[in-house]
Amino acid sequence: MPVTGRDSDGRANFDLNHPVSRKVHIFADDDLAKLKKLLPANDWKFLSGVLGVKQAFESKDQLKLRQGYADVAPVMLGTSASNEEMQLQKDFLDALAVDARSAVIFLPQLATYALKNARLVLWRSKGKFVPAIFCPNFRTALYAKALLGRIKVCPHCNHLFEVPRSNQDYCSIAHREAHRVARWRAGKEQLKADQKKGGRSRKKGGRSRKKGRGART
Ligand SMILES: [Zn+2]
Repeated sequence: MPVTGRDSDGRANFDLNHPVSRKVHIFADDDLAKLKKLLPANDWKFLSGVLGVKQAFESKDQLKLRQGYADVAPVMLGTSASNEEMQLQKDFLDALAVDARSAVIFLPQLATYALKNARLVLWRSKGKFVPAIFCPNFRTALYAKALLGRIKVCPHCNHLFEVPRSNQDYCSIAHREAHRVARWRAGKEQLKADQKKGGRSRKKGGRSRKKGRGART
């Protein structure tokens, strides 16, 4: 990503307009903490939502899937909507969250949107020509690092963190356990709601069968 000052890691030799004057910086591990102060809250929310949908799909976590879709909604669907449109959006997201397979199409599209300004370039670094992803701003650099690297979002607290091991999904053991309990509770409530619905439709069905019999006689 472009940079001014001491954090430069080289020149943008691939840049058609400023091959010598423009300095670039390689996204480093400790940049994640620095960027927290620079990026608006909405950008963080969108990123944690995209990562949330990805992780929820992989771990079959319906609670996180719902949260992920809610976090990306302002970008996907816009924010200046009427109450009626907001309700339609909510229904749409609820429908997406019912089945994790919705992520098969939506997640790659979200990633394409997030990475639309990133470019694959040939960069000369440390005496060698190497392929690199050039990001014109901090936001795109963070999205690229998160979606193509090893940044994850904790399903419990939405905190973004760099994972030392690919199988670490939570920022702490305490949050892993807390989210396990939350999933269990959400599953129980969903079951109750489904049973209630089932009961109502059985009652309805019962009445219609009665009516049907009445009509035949
Ligand atoms: Zn956490």
